[in-house]
Order: sequence, then C-alpha cells, then structure tokens
Amino acid sequence: MAYTVSKSLCPQNHRCPIIRVCPSNAIVQDGYGLPMVDKSKCTECGKCEKYCPTGAVSKTN
Ligand code: SF4
Repeated sequence: MAYTVSKSLCPQNHRCPIIRVCPSNAIVQDGYGLPMVDKSKCTECGKCEKYCPTGAVSKTN
C-alpha cells in the first residue's frame, strides 16, 4: 500500500499544502507539479489524505 496523488484531482497550479502537514517530510513537489510521496519516508499516517482540499490523495495498492 502507498499513498499517491491523483493527476486528475490535483490542479497542479499551486504549492501543495500537504507538504507542510506531513510529519515525515515524505511529500516532494517539483514546482507546481504533481506531488509525489516518497515511499521510503512515508509512515502511512494518513494526514495528507485527510488534509488535501481536493481529495486528491488516496491509498492505493
Ligand atoms: S501518509 Fe503521513 S507520512 Fe505518508 S505522506 Fe501522508 S502525511 Fe506523510
């Protein structure tokens, strides 16, 4: 399982607010591009999924 950001739900036009929410510093974003979750750092706490205003983060297989 891993957290991923949906390309269709993420507007990719702003600095991603969930970066600040992640306690493990696991979310990286290049410019305003699609944020990526670094699996090696993610503890699967679920904070990003709850916080994302567009509901773009979900847990996937
Ligand atoms: S599930 Fe938690 S640790 Fe993993 S990317 Fe989201 S906020 Fe960070």
